[in-house]
Amino acid sequence: ATPTSIMVGTGRGAELGILFRKGQALQLLRDARVVAVDKTGTLTEGKPVLTDLEITAGFDHDTVLSAMAAVESHSEHPIARAIVQAAQATQFPMPALEAFESVTGYGVRAIVRSTEKPDRASRPLRVEVGADRFMAKIGVSVAPFAETASRLGQEGKTPLYAALDGQLAAIVAVADPIKPSTPAAIAALHALGLKVAMLTGDNAQTAQAIANQLGIDEVKAEVLPEGKVQALKLLRQTHGPVAFVGDGINDAPALAEADVGLAIGTGTDIAVETADVVLMSGNLQGIPNAIALSKATIGNIR
Ligand code: ADP
Ligand code: MG
Repeated sequence: ATPTSIMVGTGRGAELGILFRKGQALQLLRDARVVAVDKTGTLTEGKPVLTDLEITAGFDHDTVLSAMAAVESHSEHPIARAIVQAAQATQFPMPALEAFESVTGYGVRAIVRSTEKPDRASRPLRVEVGADRFMAKIGVSVAPFAETASRLGQEGKTPLYAALDGQLAAIVAVADPIKPSTPAAIAALHALGLKVAMLTGDNAQTAQAIANQLGIDEVKAEVLPEGKVQALKLLRQTHGPVAFVGDGINDAPALAEADVGLAIGTGTDIAVETADVVLMSGNLQGIPNAIALSKATIGNIR
């Protein structure tokens, strides 16, 4: 490609809301064989809502939900917002909290002061909220909710658990709607002859249900940020050059590893700064548009 054609392509990209931060990205994108995409906030809106809540017998609904919300109010994960919002609707007082800890890819924990019996001296309660693997880590069996969890996963919802003082207290589910632009964007990538893969920290069943809905070719679920890097390396070995699209802090290593990293402009600063290409809107049509543009600009002949 000549410097002039790259300038023209970059200019046309800007008109389409595609910011090429490196001229080289326009060339490399033409050769991509696989597009790997983060799920939460990229394929989906990234605004999950709480849809289900089942309490273990003997626990009080409002006590459990408010304890969960107290811990989640200190987390920045989109899941946290969904739980806090659901608890606010009950108008149950939010208990005080200490020793908050976030375990990346697993969940959150803290000590809350129970408000169960406000007339008595409040007693400290250890609260843990997170994925099934978080419960496994702390030695809490989620077997009593196995059927519920499986059903929720098949519905494309993310099951999460709460443990109070090491006792399984609840299963909740959050659902994150797919962006309206996602199905057409996936179809356009397939029409360009590309494979589409989903990489996510989310539950395997949930991820597979969403991938099935969208006709996504490959799924790698329950991965930590470094796991996304490993998954990209494997995709590259199997198919060839990889583009990766993401929005989160946890996507930065994958954006750096990919042959071309594309960030959603509305995503976190670190993702945008690490990316080679920035899609100015959250509309995923920007992905096939960017690839089509690179093919048109650089040409298909090697
Ligand atoms: P992703 O953004 O792709 O879901 P993360 O690594 O951020 O990946 O999270 C992976 C999983 O860890 C979540 O799906 C959830 O099960 C659990 N998790 C992370 N943070 C929280 C939180 N604040 N509350 C409950 N669960 C959490
Ligand atoms: Mg994300």
